[in-house]
Amino acid sequence: MGHVVIIGAGVVGVVNAYYLLRAGHEVTIIDKNEQSALGASGANVSCLHNAYIHPKGEPSLYAKLPSILAGQKPLLAFRDLYKPFHVKWGSGLLFESLPARTLKNQKTLEDMAAQSYVLRQQMKDELYVECDYQRSGKLIVFENTKDLDATFDYYSRAEQETGGGKIQKLDRDALFEKEPALVSRENYAVGAVHFPNDDLADCQKYTQSLTSHMSRTYGDQFRFITNTQITGFKGNEKKVLAVTTSNDDGHREIQGDHFILAAGFKTKELAAKLGVNIPIIPAKGYTICVPYARGTDTLKSSVTYEARNLVLSPYEDRIRISSGFFIGEDNDDIKEDKIELIKTYAREILPDLDFSGMKIYMGHRPCLTSSIPQIKSISKYSNAYVNSGHGMYGWSLAHYSAKTMTGLINIKKA
Ligand SMILES: Cc1cc2nc3c(=O)[nH]c(=O)nc-3n(C[C@H](O)[C@H](O)[C@H](O)COP(=O)(O)OP(=O)(O)OC[C@H]3O[C@@H](n4cnc5c(N)ncnc54)[C@H](O)[C@@H]3O)c2cc1C
Repeated sequence: MGHVVIIGAGVVGVVNAYYLLRAGHEVTIIDKNEQSALGASGANVSCLHNAYIHPKGEPSLYAKLPSILAGQKPLLAFRDLYKPFHVKWGSGLLFESLPARTLKNQKTLEDMAAQSYVLRQQMKDELYVECDYQRSGKLIVFENTKDLDATFDYYSRAEQETGGGKIQKLDRDALFEKEPALVSRENYAVGAVHFPNDDLADCQKYTQSLTSHMSRTYGDQFRFITNTQITGFKGNEKKVLAVTTSNDDGHREIQGDHFILAAGFKTKELAAKLGVNIPIIPAKGYTICVPYARGTDTLKSSVTYEARNLVLSPYEDRIRISSGFFIGEDNDDIKEDKIELIKTYAREILPDLDFSGMKIYMGHRPCLTSSIPQIKSISKYSNAYVNSGHGMYGWSLAHYSAKTMTGLINIKKA
């Protein structure tokens, strides 16, 4: 068993650490933040897509493209298209949107999601990790029949071909019976697609609770080094020997037998220091978390409101509301106009929502054109790996990728 150094304490790095510890490895996680899950994993809107999951690149993108490029979608944009990498990435996304590619990517994602679900259930049987888990199901609500039918057909076809769980098309009456809290949209919503097998759970809570559990339980076998930036690597042409770090106390090196890059959208930058291209682009998004009194009459399911690109994830005492997909935007700014727009759209759906006490989260989804995460060895080196590029689905896929990465390390000798 070896000493594994993981760069990045998002949900991907932390769940990976847990699987490695259980397999008997010594693990050090290093993160530039003061605790885990303060990147994309903290901004997450909580949906666990267990059966139905689709890549970002899909045929409908071609029709949406002109309005996206013309900047007509306030919460969906492609930034800095003068940058060669962004143009290349955009072209790659269009290629992955071809019907055959979409179906292939969707099948791969569904397979990963289904395996992740099983692994999460197994883990739940052996360990309680706080995350406010609930089997909520997911509703995708539509304001026009054409999109409702197209979405249902799309997923029904996938159901036949990939053998996923049972989905349902709900007409207006069935929708409002299922979700009375949507009554304010009575004159607009035409129906919904219902995915009964999807769950909700708080990704940040889960990741932070799991980090605490590992610190308490694994003694010297586990180290979590916070407030420390990885600046580079030391090694020879075949092997990485150490990472170089920088923090308030200065610079140092941390040695290990294996090194996993799980740094979210920053994985590209770090991989470049090893001379490797991992073409991840950030897609920035926001989630606002609005508290309310327990027992408040609100949504029962996770609701995706298509007309507004809004996802609403209700808990007993709060609701997380997410929107924004700004491809290529890598800054940490919280844009007030975007937050106001999310609030306006949320108010259209839940007019009584009181935003005082609201918390704002922002994160960058680490996106690859295929939407399939890279979980692999870096071929140039015998002991360096990537576990990143989970895009819109890192929470849903983290357990699958942790198991896969642990398997890769188990069969390799440092
Ligand atoms: C608004 C929003 C909603 C989402 N909703 C969902 C959802 O409902 N369901 C779902 O499955 N997924 C969802 N996602 C996607 C999911 O959150 C991401 O795929 C996932 O969090 C990626 O996890 P990660 O660990 O790879 O990255 P991150 O969580 O970003 O973690 C990477 C870590 O690496 C650290 N790091 C980076 N560079 C360095 C360095 N040089 N040195 C040290 N540390 C470094 C960062 O500080 C960070 O902590 C959503 C994402 C967003 C933004």
